[in-house]
Amino acid sequence: MLQLFITIRWIDVADIIIVAILLYQLYALVKGTSAINIFFGVLIFYLLWLFVKALDMQLLSTILGQFIGVGVIALIIVFQQELRRFLLMVGSKGIFNKDNFKSLSGLRPSNFIDLNVENIVMACQKMALQKIGALIVVARKSDLKYYVNTGERIDAEISSNLLESIFFKNNPLHDGAVIIYDNRIRAVKCVLPLTENTVFPFQLGLRHRAAVGITEQSDAIAIAVSEQSGEISISRNGALKTNITPKQLKEILTEEFSD
Ligand code: ATP
Ligand code: MG
Repeated sequence: MLQLFITIRWIDVADIIIVAILLYQLYALVKGTSAINIFFGVLIFYLLWLFVKALDMQLLSTILGQFIGVGVIALIIVFQQELRRFLLMVGSKGIFNKDNFKSLSGLRPSNFIDLNVENIVMACQKMALQKIGALIVVARKSDLKYYVNTGERIDAEISSNLLESIFFKNNPLHDGAVIIYDNRIRAVKCVLPLTENTVFPFQLGLRHRAAVGITEQSDAIAIAVSEQSGEISISRNGALKTNITPKQLKEILTEEFSD
């Protein structure tokens, strides 16, 4: 018998709301990373399967169904990092934490306003001369909320002296990366993802690996000053340009952050 009126219980409504929240959280996690394309790819694949099934195309739906059958395992493998972050977020902060909903991408990204390039370059030049190690991430459109949360939030104007003081050795905040967002220093001591690139120059250590890692996962730009050699490097789109002069740094930043 075809039942025209299905009964909806309160528990069903709660069920749907919870699934929606979980999906939104998953989307917020992968937004701005390369995983977003996989996310949409999987979604399209699933919708196609539903469509084919509804049309009762036996052969195609059986073939697609085979993939869907192992889909959960495939998803766990593909989204391993995102799932880890998701569980980490649920476990450490709680999913309903207000901060998790307050997307940093709601702020204006740095390339819509003048980035204080002068002060960043001046700080890098001075730190390079004194061989003070530094790692500065300038965010653009990608949401770096997850990485901001690994460090300590501050909110300060970009000044050369402040950047130098942050990275000054023995300063409790010197370890890790500074994240600049919306032309302000938003976080310090941030832990960035390391690149898994196997053809990475052997003389470069974790700081440089982290600089490349963050630009593989987002559209941000990362500047590293080497403590060992005093060289300035810049990374964008997962590529690293080493040993650049302050003049080159200024040119690249100006080019990247002017509209
Ligand atoms: P340097 O030339 O300055 O020595 P390096 O590339 O050799 O740089 P390491 O010596 O391995 O890098 O690490 C130096 C610093 O880089 C660490 O003390 C830490 O502050 C920072 N760093 C390392 N890994 C990360 C990471 N995943 N995220 C953010 N900062 C990191
Ligand atoms: Mg080193």
